[in-house]
Amino acid sequence: MFKQGLWAFELEINGRDLILNDIILSAKSITKDYKMGASIIHVLKGIDLKIRHGEILVIIGPSGVGKSTLLHIMGGLDRPTSGKVVINSTSVFELDDTALARFRNQTIGFVFQFHYLLPEFTALENVAMPGLIGNKPRSEVYKKAEKLLRDVGLGERLEHKPNELSGGEQQRVAVARALMNDPMILLTDEPSGNLDLESSRSLHELLYKLSREKNQTIVIVTHNQELAQMADRVIELFDGRIKNETSQNRRD
Ligand code: ADP
Ligand code: MG
Repeated sequence: MFKQGLWAFELEINGRDLILNDIILSAKSITKDYKMGASIIHVLKGIDLKIRHGEILVIIGPSGVGKSTLLHIMGGLDRPTSGKVVINSTSVFELDDTALARFRNQTIGFVFQFHYLLPEFTALENVAMPGLIGNKPRSEVYKKAEKLLRDVGLGERLEHKPNELSGGEQQRVAVARALMNDPMILLTDEPSGNLDLESSRSLHELLYKLSREKNQTIVIVTHNQELAQMADRVIELFDGRIKNETSQNRRD
């Protein structure tokens, strides 16, 4: 079929977007309103965004501007008021809730500020969970979970439960879990927002390593300047729109 080209291009055929090339996510005219009693808050007022395969995109902006809202919409966790998101030629909000949940499980990895690991389960079991939910064979899933935990530097912590791990280690488990189903895109929402300096650094290095070694596409919402500097592209949200977009040379 089509080879990934150096240059991104898009065709529209009979009103359907056919995305050939290295663009794997395209968000079009996204708006999001929230109803608060009698009033409506217009959080996102028209966001257009394309994400290329293998890039690290950072989203910054003041608290409350809608960064998490946008990230959730990009990952199909929340539906926009209008607009659409196309991931690898699937228009995600045209899927019903069941199909959307399946699509998310197979396509997107999420890492949040708070890890949301399941407390009664070990690191290994937590990482395995998305694979088991995706109905993959158990032995294969556990083997892969172990490998992922080794990759994130936790090969010696397989049987630890979340409360037996440090904050930085818990986030690494969350990253490994997010990678369980080889997601096309890893979406992270202030992943180091709750960590000390040293753990933040090592988490940032892990994300960077994933990008460099596996060409993993990563979107990061962050306040962290150091993390923003590692990105290929930084987008700044302000008043519901993209205010600034900066491409930068990644520092290898
Ligand atoms: P950020 O991540 O940039 O700090 P959010 O995306 O979390 O911002 O929120 C953007 C705005 O939308 C905020 O004003 C927030 O209060 C509002 N908001 C977020 N979620 C909801 C919700 N479920 N209901 C009503 N308002 C919401
Ligand atoms: Mg947020």
